[in-house]
Amino acid sequence: MHKKLFIPGPVEVRPDVLEKMATPMIGHRSKDASALQRRISEKLKTLFYTKEEILLSTTSGSGLMEGAVRSCTAKRAAVFSVGAFGKRWYEMAKFNNVPADLFEVEWGKPTTAEAVDEVLSTGKYDLITITHNETSTGVMNPVEEIAEVMKKYPEVVYCLDTVSSMGGTKIEVDKLGVDICITSSQKALGLPPGLAVCSFSQKAVERAKQVPYRGLYLDLLALYEFIQKKDYQYPSTPSLSHMFALDYQLDRILEEGLENRFERHRQMAEVVRAWAREHFEILPEEKYMSNTVTTIKNTRDIDVSDLNKKLGERGLQISNGYGKLKDKTFRIAHMADCTMEDIKDLLRNIDDILGF
Ligand SMILES: *Cc1c(COP(=O)(O)O)cnc(C)c1O
Repeated sequence: MHKKLFIPGPVEVRPDVLEKMATPMIGHRSKDASALQRRISEKLKTLFYTKEEILLSTTSGSGLMEGAVRSCTAKRAAVFSVGAFGKRWYEMAKFNNVPADLFEVEWGKPTTAEAVDEVLSTGKYDLITITHNETSTGVMNPVEEIAEVMKKYPEVVYCLDTVSSMGGTKIEVDKLGVDICITSSQKALGLPPGLAVCSFSQKAVERAKQVPYRGLYLDLLALYEFIQKKDYQYPSTPSLSHMFALDYQLDRILEEGLENRFERHRQMAEVVRAWAREHFEILPEEKYMSNTVTTIKNTRDIDVSDLNKKLGERGLQISNGYGKLKDKTFRIAHMADCTMEDIKDLLRNIDDILGF
């Protein structure tokens, strides 16, 4: 039996979107391929609220995260981490021999604008990475406040991981001053895993030109220059299947209306939070709670894997905690094409299993 996924990626994918993955192939050097990739970029610009260029990558989101820190750090990167995925960005820098420092907070806490200001005021850094929505802890960082501080540091390239939030909440890339905004297909966009996309600002382009060793496959400047010259085609063969599905799904997202879509996510988050407050506690403070995933403290010491087994018998699946929060928390994702009905049905089933 298929289990409907309420895990923070991969998410449940609609059958009509899945079907688009089975579209017959076209040549990746054809006019049709150029048109497909150009259409996708245009629609993504609307979703990202950006006028900058969009890059597609046949990797998961991690590919573009690694490409960003390697391609655009000329001096030293400041990596801000509030959980598992921030830490991973630091490791990407380290194993690519990119000078970087890690600034971590206790899991469940956010990256504050003050912390960013304090670190950047040293003048040591020319790139920062921030996790917008930390999927391990359910923290959504205060990017509007961080954007205010970033205005003081125009020389710093700002990379933002929106892997688990883009498409589920409003992220106005240009207004926030983000240079490289990265997301993956399998989270709030509601597609199968295997494709990543990012915005790539002129400032990032200029910076990358000063970095001699940018890698090859994930050299973001090379991708950028290639699509300019070759009418949106990519240096190597991209996952055309994902592109057919993304082209279709972006139409659906824009038809729903971005504001409606973000509001739907906010309302689902409210319902999950209300339920979590009644029976458990939520890990982050109110102000920093994510609109796409709720990380719940296991204050009743329930057996999460047993709960998931029983949910599985009913065709449903939630997520245990991530990394060091494995047994201390559990997570319910409410993103992509998940509906309020789906969420209410899930919570009814959990209530029934736990005897609430
Ligand atoms: C899932 C996730 C990643 C990793 O993305 P992949 O597509 O699996 O490489 C990075 N950051 C965040 C916040 C995530 O949720």
